[in-house]
Amino acid sequence: MRTRQFAPLLVAILATVGVLAQPPSFQADPSVEKLRQHISYLASDALEGRRTGSAGANDAAHYIAGEFSRLGLRPAVQPSNTRKLSEAISRYLQTFPYVAGVQLGKGNALSFNQSSGAAPLSLGVGDDWMPLGFSTNGRVDRTATVFVGFGITSAELNYNDYQAADVAGKVAIALSGTPDGDNPHGRFARYEEVRWKAIAARNAGAKALIVVAREERFQDDRLSALRYDNSAGDAGIIVLALSRQSARKLLDFATDKPLSDLEEQMAKQGDTKLVTHPVKSLDVSIAADVTRREVPAYNVVGVLEGSDPVLKNETIVIGAHYDHLGRGGEGSLAPRSGEIHHGADDNASGVAGVLELARLFTEQRPRPKRTIVFITFSGEEEGLLGSSYYVNSPLAPLANTVAMINMDMIGRMKDRKLIIGGVGTAKEWRDIVGSGNFLQGVSVTATHGRSNAQQGDGTRGGSAGFPMVVSANGRSIVTTDSAKSFDLTLQEDGYGPSDHSSFYSKQIPVLFFWTGNHEDYHKPSDTADKINYDDEARVLSLVARIVRAVDSGAKRPSYTVAKSESAGRATGFRVYLGTIPNYADTNDGLLLDGVRDDSPAARAGVKAGDRIMKIAGRDVHNVYDYTYALGEMKAGQEYVIEVLRGTERLTLKITPAARKP
Ligand SMILES: [Zn+2]
Repeated sequence: MRTRQFAPLLVAILATVGVLAQPPSFQADPSVEKLRQHISYLASDALEGRRTGSAGANDAAHYIAGEFSRLGLRPAVQPSNTRKLSEAISRYLQTFPYVAGVQLGKGNALSFNQSSGAAPLSLGVGDDWMPLGFSTNGRVDRTATVFVGFGITSAELNYNDYQAADVAGKVAIALSGTPDGDNPHGRFARYEEVRWKAIAARNAGAKALIVVAREERFQDDRLSALRYDNSAGDAGIIVLALSRQSARKLLDFATDKPLSDLEEQMAKQGDTKLVTHPVKSLDVSIAADVTRREVPAYNVVGVLEGSDPVLKNETIVIGAHYDHLGRGGEGSLAPRSGEIHHGADDNASGVAGVLELARLFTEQRPRPKRTIVFITFSGEEEGLLGSSYYVNSPLAPLANTVAMINMDMIGRMKDRKLIIGGVGTAKEWRDIVGSGNFLQGVSVTATHGRSNAQQGDGTRGGSAGFPMVVSANGRSIVTTDSAKSFDLTLQEDGYGPSDHSSFYSKQIPVLFFWTGNHEDYHKPSDTADKINYDDEARVLSLVARIVRAVDSGAKRPSYTVAKSESAGRATGFRVYLGTIPNYADTNDGLLLDGVRDDSPAARAGVKAGDRIMKIAGRDVHNVYDYTYALGEMKAGQEYVIEVLRGTERLTLKITPAARKP
């Protein structure tokens, strides 16, 4: 059935088969043993889950660079000051800055002052309160406080805790949680996140937000542990968590009324009547001091120089990310954190793929015509940080980068099912991928005198083999076995949740190989013993075939704008603009990596490289602000959007579309 789809290509394919019939030393096959060796090491306990910036990730980078060196790939980087690694290895490492976490600075202080003139009540950081990881650093002196209930505003739910509270220039005090209580599927679930509460407080003009802890023992509360949410941009105001003991001293309860009663009452009421609940006539002084711990992170880059005097100036990038989730935390789907997330499929499998392809292409004779750049990226799990850095500081000119091939999770194939994304990003992709997959099932019998009687009867192993080319003596020379081809799902889009997205945003044709999701995804149980090594080797021979097709072509693949299949899904927001944010950027505003073709943003005249500064009347400092503003917008209504393009500030009009269900 599926082979028929490619019948018109048969003539062209048979010409290629002729090439394949040359002596087998021409090209090696991916080795199951080598894949097992790479994945077993990268996914071992020793590397502790390869969280970007950690010792385990650096060990992985060292291992990959060592393999590149052994294969004779040329280092891509000039000698740098990476002190811990040997000079030879460090020249494969492209260093980029990474915030590994946050820690308390020396200048934290919190005190409440009674207007009566009594001594101020000083609270100890860590014991009674804690600034949040995304708090702005700064101070607030003797400022009035206002209780704001849960501190939630939601245009969508027509709910506003700030309606009756004037917090301009004051400090807002909010309860943890939402009127839904702990219901994770309640309609307020999305608003529990303190990031959103901070934006609501800032929009209302508050100077700081104090969130009352939920747990009776402050150290048990999620907010009491200073943590970094892997996101660019702070909240724009001071945000801190306060213990319940301290909150009781602060809030003016009618005698004997405990804090929990207030929370219950607020939840039951579900409206804004209690917003004016009095706060004792106290004012507050705060100094918040959170420092970011910056460490180097590394992309590992090795180059195989092309053999054609002209075409070697063109580059094919083959990539995969090597970082993973460490011991859990942000991004983990494990019920509790602390266990090593092995990341065998995600994405030791892709890295092993890069290493095996590097071996195949260095051994290939004649050598590839074009230059092949092998890259393993870091920072992928935190938002494509490494690949984003690479495309903005490329080691081979992007204008000559003719294609990027990305492998992310290629080790858990089931029922021959393979997903290939990005087929809409070059005119030639469907043909190249289609004939590549067809050829997976073609075997050539080139040796004389060897009987081939077993093939072609259609029974062996349940395969559907049949002779395509029969020699003079009646023996089949070329047979096809469609059971060896993959059951492909082709996706048009060049944007997606992995590193090819960074390259596509620079108008480079991309392909993304993926064997699909599974129950161990982003959990400690994604281990090396669960990898389907035989099928991964087969995936790699398809990838190699496709790369060879690109390499042998006289013309580079022609970039095309892909249809966006994922547009309008995910995130739960009602409106869709078609913008692709850059998650790595740390400057003010929201830098866009891309704008989808024929989207509301494209129609508004917004372009890739623009920085959104304001939308729908809301200032945008980071992706949270942007998402918050989107939540307030309505489809079909026109809004003003201000972007920074170079040094020019442009005011454009944008009309969001409704998201598809
Ligand atoms: Zn992942």
